[in-house]
Formats: sequence, C-alpha cells, structure tokens
Amino acid sequence: MATISIEAVRKNFGPVEVLKDISLEIADGEFLTLLGPSGCGKSTLLRIIAGLERNDAGAIVIGGRRVDDLPARDRDIAMVFQSYALYPHMTVAQNIGLPLSMRRMNVWQRLPWIGSMLPGTAAARRTIAKDVAEAAQALDIGPLLGRKPGQLSGGQKQRVALGRAMVRHPAAFLLDEPLSNLDAKLRVQMRSELTELQRRLGATMIYVTHDQAEAMTMSDRVAVMLAGRLEQVAPPRRLYDDPETLAVAEFVGSPK
Ligand code: ADP
Ligand code: MG
Repeated sequence: MATISIEAVRKNFGPVEVLKDISLEIADGEFLTLLGPSGCGKSTLLRIIAGLERNDAGAIVIGGRRVDDLPARDRDIAMVFQSYALYPHMTVAQNIGLPLSMRRMNVWQRLPWIGSMLPGTAAARRTIAKDVAEAAQALDIGPLLGRKPGQLSGGQKQRVALGRAMVRHPAAFLLDEPLSNLDAKLRVQMRSELTELQRRLGATMIYVTHDQAEAMTMSDRVAVMLAGRLEQVAPPRRLYDDPETLAVAEFVGSPK
C-alpha cells in the first residue's frame, strides 16, 4: 500500500472553479473519507487521483511517485463506483478476474517476446482463478462465481465490484459512494464489513460519501469538503467536538 499526496490541486470546468487549491495527505493504510454535499467536487477529486480526469494545477503523488502524467492504468489504483460498472454478459468470476486477464493481454501486446517467458495459458488461468476465488471468499460471494450480474442483488453486485478492485492488489482503493444504491439496512451492515475488510487488507482507502453517519462511523479521518474547498480534516470525534467553522458544525450536526 502507499501514501497519497494531493498538492495544491485545482480544476476548472469552463468558467466554474470546481476544485480550489486542494492539499491533503493520506497515510499508508489510512481510511480517509471525503465528506460533502452533492456537487462540491468529491467525484472530480477522486477521478483526478485515479487519472480519469486531468488536474489544471498542482500535483498527485502516490507512494513517492508523481503520477500526473501517467494514464489511469499505470497508477496502480483501483476505483469502485456507485454504479458497480459490471459487464452483464460475463459471470461473476469473469468480472472479478477481468483486470488480471487484461493485464496479461497488455503484456502480450506491448512486449510480445515476453509471451514465451510467461507461464502457459492453462497455468495462467489457474492462477487467475485462484486469485478470484480468494477475493470472492473474503467478500462472502464464493457460491456466486458462476452467476451473471443480472442474477445478483445490489449488495452482491457491489461485492463483485470490490472483488474486481481487490485482485489487482492496488497501492490504494478509491470508493465513490459505493453504498448509496443499497437499501438502508444493507448500507449499515456494509459499513462495518467494509471497514473490517480495509483493516484486514491494510489498505490505503479514500472513501467518498455525502452521508455524515457513514463518514463518522467508518473513517480514521474525515475531510469535509464544501464548494470545492477542504473546510477541515480531522478524526470523526474531533470534527464533532471541535468543528473549526460554522459550515462544518452545520454539516456534521454538532452543536456550535
Ligand atoms: P460531487 O461528486 O461532490 O457530487 P462532482 O465532482 O461530481 O461533485 O461535481 C462538482 C461540480 O463539477 C458540479 O458542479 C458538477 O456539475 C461539475 N462537473 C463535474 N464533472 C463535470 C464535467 N465533466 N463537465 C462540466 N462540469 C462538471
Ligand atoms: Mg459524486
């Protein structure tokens, strides 16, 4: 896993300043939540870290390496979306294993001579199947590997999306409102499952939500974001007991 530094990052969409000088350090193995109302710029910041969007100014440093100029696939980061983004015609096992089979194909395409040095196709398939089975077991979806996404509940789909992120063993996980499509009861249950999984993997995680309760119960630290700016970054308890601005107090519901 790795540290992530966001250094004076700015982003405009046309005339609109969506990110205004954002600086933030996420420690190795930390669970940091970006909390803020809809439209404040959370997804844009996450997409910039992942390399799906370009920052106009500032730097992104992951594990000591500046990654601004690297395409998303070379950043060693896995992102999980609210919409799951699963392939409906593939089985659960194929969806989870996709990054591994793609990686293998990329190596073949970029460096054909390496093909002869890779394990045989059958052996490679067995390795992928083993990694997929491990992820599925950790997420409690082992018996579902042969199903298609259409035969799964929302919670199960979200686990498949998490599994697909896990098999890559990325330097960090970025989760964009991963629970917001689930019903209330499952959402609460998944909170503790996700934090437990993060601890077990020792994963560096940036978790995006507009839900205060999620942020307060899951995170090591919470970064409160309002209108493209970080208002305060602190452990949940301190945000609640000692909000630095009235806006933070109002947003986390503490009596200031
Ligand atoms: P959040 O995830 O906190 O809801 P977003 O990062 O999605 O916020 O959006 C922040 C602001 O940037 C919003 O005003 C949104 O309309 C705008 N925005 C996001 N993506 C684009 C885009 N590709 N083009 C233009 N405006 C965008
Ligand atoms: Mg968003």
